[in-house]
Amino acid sequence: MNKIEEYINKSNSTDLKHSYMDACSNKDFYKYISSLPIEEDILMKYTSTLEECFDEYSNCKSCKSFNMCKNKVSGYCLTPEVEEKSLNFSYICCDKKAKIDEEEKYLQNIKYYDIPQEIRKASFKDLYNDDTARVPIMKYIKDFVKNYGKKDNLKGLYLHGSFGSGKTYLVAALLNDMAKKKVKCACVYYPEFLRDLKASFKTDYEEKFRYIKKVPLLLLDDIGAENVSNFSRDEILGPILQYRMEENLPTFFTSNLTLEELENNLAITSSGVDKLKAKRIVERIKQLTVPIELISKNRRS
Ligand code: ADP
Ligand code: MG
Repeated sequence: MNKIEEYINKSNSTDLKHSYMDACSNKDFYKYISSLPIEEDILMKYTSTLEECFDEYSNCKSCKSFNMCKNKVSGYCLTPEVEEKSLNFSYICCDKKAKIDEEEKYLQNIKYYDIPQEIRKASFKDLYNDDTARVPIMKYIKDFVKNYGKKDNLKGLYLHGSFGSGKTYLVAALLNDMAKKKVKCACVYYPEFLRDLKASFKTDYEEKFRYIKKVPLLLLDDIGAENVSNFSRDEILGPILQYRMEENLPTFFTSNLTLEELENNLAITSSGVDKLKAKRIVERIKQLTVPIELISKNRRS
């Protein structure tokens, strides 16, 4: 090594030592790094990263909830690990994030199409219980959960009634619960799904259509609010319901319309009136479901 290199090396190591000593004047930092079973000479090379780790560790210690995470990567803490005689750094998942991940594992079993966040999180434990109008629905739900997988020919619900009464929330709470029991489910806002399906003729139409036909538990949310065409009624809705009837796949509907009103709604398209075809669809829905009405105050804020 020539003299200049020697001089640079020496002054570098003096600098490293200085910044290390500086950082260690913080007693908590010193305590934190002292727990690492490694020589100080090595620690010195990583002072600024160790300070970063210490800041993240301190954030974690005072953290109240995952939403308030102050760390660079939310839910993770940059952490030093000693391996042999070297120091490695990795992002370790915190307890709060791990708990949320565990609670949200069921999301792998349920697909939502255009369903609002609060409904995606619907759960029995957050259900309002101030309304006797829901008693028959709760009874139906309890029986469904008890009998699913044990009895054949389980019927879904045709839940109709006033706007904002909680129809979608109740069925979503049931499907979320079933997803937690590892049953594959789909909650589909039907008017948007239909628009999306029609727009995907050239791409993944078949895949989407097949998925909705075959998913073990399906909610067609807000049926009756869609733009009815001969095609959507006879080539989309009809075959979906036919398949699900034949395969005994429980199917749920929510609607602002009674079955009678839905039948009228399905009869009229821009191509004219076809009462027979509408009646056929409604017959299938009747086969697939138990109709229950939910009239209640509007829960939407
Ligand atoms: P609907 O489908 O009958 O029009 P929603 O299910 O969308 O009504 O419910 C309206 C609002 O009330 C939503 O914001 C939903 O989160 C809330 N909500 C409805 N029912 C409940 C319930 N049982 N427990 C908690 N929140 C509910
Ligand atoms: Mg709804």
